[in-house]
Amino acid sequence: MTLSAALGYPRIGPKREVKKATEAYWAGKLSADELQKVAKEQRLLRWQTLQQQGVDVIPSGDFTLYDHVLDFNNTFNIIPKRFADAQLSDLDRYFAMGRGHQKDGVDLEAQEMQNHYIKSEVSSSTQFKLNNLKPVDEFVEAKEAGIVTRPVLVGPITALLLGKVGRDEPNPASFDPLSLLDKLVPVYGELLQKLQQAGATEVQIDEPSLVMDSTANLGAQYQATFDALAKAAPGLKITLATYFGRLDKNVEFVAKLPIDTLHIDLDRAADQLDQVVEAVKPTSLKLSLGLVSGRNIWKNDLAASLATAKKVIDVLGQDRVVVATSSSLLHTPVTLANESRLKPEQKDWFSFATEKAAEVATLAKALSGADVSAALDANKQSIQARRDFEKNSDAAVRERLSKVTPDMYDRKSPFAQRIAAQDAVYKLPPFPTTTIGSFPQTKEIRLARSKHTKGELSTEEYEKFLENEIKHAVEFQEEIDIDLLVHGEAERNDMSQYFGEQLQGFVFTENAWVQSYGSRYVRPPIVVSDVSRPTPMTVRWSSYAQSLTKRPMKGMLTGPVTILNWSFPRADISKEVQCKQLALALRDEVVDLEKAGIFAIQVDEPAIREGLPLRQVDWNSYLTWAVDSFKLATAGVEDRTQVHSHFCYSDFGTIFEHIQRLDADIISIEAAKSDLKLLQVFQAKGYANDIGPGLFDIHSPRVPSVEEMKARAEAFLSALPDKKHIWIGPDCGLKTREWPGVKETLRRMVTVAKQLRAER
Ligand code: GLN
Ligand code: ZN
Repeated sequence: MTLSAALGYPRIGPKREVKKATEAYWAGKLSADELQKVAKEQRLLRWQTLQQQGVDVIPSGDFTLYDHVLDFNNTFNIIPKRFADAQLSDLDRYFAMGRGHQKDGVDLEAQEMQNHYIKSEVSSSTQFKLNNLKPVDEFVEAKEAGIVTRPVLVGPITALLLGKVGRDEPNPASFDPLSLLDKLVPVYGELLQKLQQAGATEVQIDEPSLVMDSTANLGAQYQATFDALAKAAPGLKITLATYFGRLDKNVEFVAKLPIDTLHIDLDRAADQLDQVVEAVKPTSLKLSLGLVSGRNIWKNDLAASLATAKKVIDVLGQDRVVVATSSSLLHTPVTLANESRLKPEQKDWFSFATEKAAEVATLAKALSGADVSAALDANKQSIQARRDFEKNSDAAVRERLSKVTPDMYDRKSPFAQRIAAQDAVYKLPPFPTTTIGSFPQTKEIRLARSKHTKGELSTEEYEKFLENEIKHAVEFQEEIDIDLLVHGEAERNDMSQYFGEQLQGFVFTENAWVQSYGSRYVRPPIVVSDVSRPTPMTVRWSSYAQSLTKRPMKGMLTGPVTILNWSFPRADISKEVQCKQLALALRDEVVDLEKAGIFAIQVDEPAIREGLPLRQVDWNSYLTWAVDSFKLATAGVEDRTQVHSHFCYSDFGTIFEHIQRLDADIISIEAAKSDLKLLQVFQAKGYANDIGPGLFDIHSPRVPSVEEMKARAEAFLSALPDKKHIWIGPDCGLKTREWPGVKETLRRMVTVAKQLRAER
C-alpha cells in the first residue's frame, strides 16, 4: 500500500486566528492562557482537517506562534545571554527573541531575521538542553485527540547551518557554528527518545540544507549524526525531508544513512528523480515523492503525478513509495473554501493547502488500487480547462516583449553624469535623509480600506481619507526636516498585492493569506495570464503628495522581481518571461511618474536576494534576467530623474557585481542589524553609485537613541570612506510600526544627520 503524507500545514488559521490572538496578546488584550487556548484550538483544527482530507501521515510540532526555527532554538536552549538574563516569562522571552522587547525597563533588540526566519545565535557558551518539550507536548496533544502524528523537527545540521555566531562568542572570527554539532546531537537524541516514549513511531527531520552547496562536504557529519540519532531512539522511523531543490551528489551519502524514508521535492526539482531512484534502489529506503507543490497554488495534474509515481513503484515496489507534498504546505493559503469572489472557472484552477492535502490522499488511494476515478476525472477536466485558457493569452503583450531592444535596458548616461544632472534639479544637503516609503498602516487606515472594500465608504470618501493621510505624512516630514519625502503608501494593502490588483493578468483572493514572518501575513496575488498595465497605478498619489510641498518627492513602486517573487507565478511559462512582462508595465509607470514631475522614483527589489536559487550554479541565469528586468523597468527616464532601489536583506557580498549592474542611482539596504562586512565589500569593490545603509531596525517597536544611531552611522562612514553621498534612512518601510515610535525615531535620525553635517 502507498501512503500519503503532508510535510507541514499552515499555522495561521483559516481566518488568521493566530495573528489576531498573538497581536492581542502583545497589546495586553489577551492573557497568555487565552493565547495558548487559541493555539491549541488551531492545532486541533489542523490535524482534523488533514485527517478529513484523507492524509495518512499527519505532521505535528510544526505549529508555531512566531517562527519554527525560533521554536527550535527555544526548545534546545539556543538562547543568547541577553535574553536568558532578562526578567521575562518564557513566552515573553520567546517573543522578545523574535521581535525585540521594550517595556518595564527591559530593552532588548530582536535577533536577526533572514529569509523570513530568525537566525539562531550560537557561541561556545551555548549550552544545549531541553528547555521545553514542545514537540512532545504537541504529539501528545494530537494523540489525546485520537490522531497519531509524525512529529516534525528542524534537522540538527540544518539548524546549525542556519545559525550565526552570536554576540556571546568571545572569538567570533574563528568560531564555526557547526562545531557545536557533537554537543547538539545527544540532546537531540534525548528529544527523540522522549517522543518515542510518548508513543511516536516516526519523526520527520527536515534537512533542507541538503539541497544547498554548503553540505557537499558534510557526508561524514551526516553519517555520524544519524548513526547517533538512530542509536538514541532505536526503532523510531526517521523520514529525512529535503525540499526546495535537488540533492545532486549528496544523494550518495544520504542513501547510506540509517533512516526509514527519504523525502525529495519533485516540484522544484523534478529532474533529480532518476538519480535518486538509482541511488536508493539497492538500499531498503522508502522514497517519499514530493509531487504536490507546497509552494504554488495550482491544481496538481494528478494523471501526470500518478505516471511519475508508477514509474518509481515499478522500480521500488508499492510499499517503498510514499506520495507527499513537496514541502510543508505553510507557504500556501489555508483553503479555497473561504474564497467567494473568484470566478468559478478560475477557482477551478487552484488548490490551497487543504485541497492539496486531498490531492496527496487521492494519489495514494489511486496507487493503492482504490477507485478514485471521479476525483481523477474531475481533475482531468480542470487541468484541461486551464490549458485551454493558457492558449488564449495576450498577443499584444508578447509582441511588445519580443520587440524590446538592448538599449532599453540602460539609462542614457553613466552614473556620474546623472547624479550631476540630479544635483542641478535639487541640491540636497550632505547625508540627505529619506525613508523607505511606508508610514504606519494604522487601524484607521485599515478600517477605511475595509469599509471601502465592503462598499460602506464611497470611492470619493476613501480617496479623500487617503489624501488626508498623505497630507499628514508630508507635513510631518517637513516638520522634522526630512530632505527627500515620500507619500507614505497609505493606499497600499501590501507592496506586491497593491500592484497585482491594478495590473491585468493577476487575480487576487479574499482570504488566501500566507505567513511572511511572525504575525505578518501577506496575500500574494496570482499571475494567471500575460501581464500589462491598463492605467497608471500610483501617479495620482505621488502627484498629490508633490503638490503639497516644495521639497522633492520620491515615487514608490515595487520592482518586477519582487512583485513576481511575492506572487504566485504561472506554471506554464518561465518566470523570466513573466518578470519582463511586469518590467514593461512598470516602465510605463516610471515614465509617467517622471512626466508628472516626480524627481525621484524608488523601485523596491527586496526579493531579488530572496529569490536566489539554492545552488550557486543556478545563480547567474536567475540574476541575469532578474537584474535585466529591473533595468528594463527603470531605464526609460532622463538623467535628471533619480532612481532609487531598496533591498531588505543585505547579504550581497556574493552577488555584488549584479547589484552594481542594476545601476540604481541610490540603493538603500538593511544594515542596522548586520555587521559591516557588506559595506566593506562595497568599499573594496569600489561600488560606483550612492548608498543608504539603514540606521535602525524596523522589525522591532523599540526606539533607538541618537547616540546608538550616530555610532552606527559613524561605523558606516568608516566602512565606506570613499563615498561622498551617504544617505540616512531606516532599514525598511515603517508600515508595521506605530506613529509615536516612528515620529520619535525619525526625529532622532534627522538629528544624527544634522550632527554629521555639522561635524564633517
Ligand atoms: N517601500 C516599501 C515600504 O516602505 C518597501 C518595503 C520592503 O522593502 N519590504 O514599505
Ligand atoms: Zn525593506
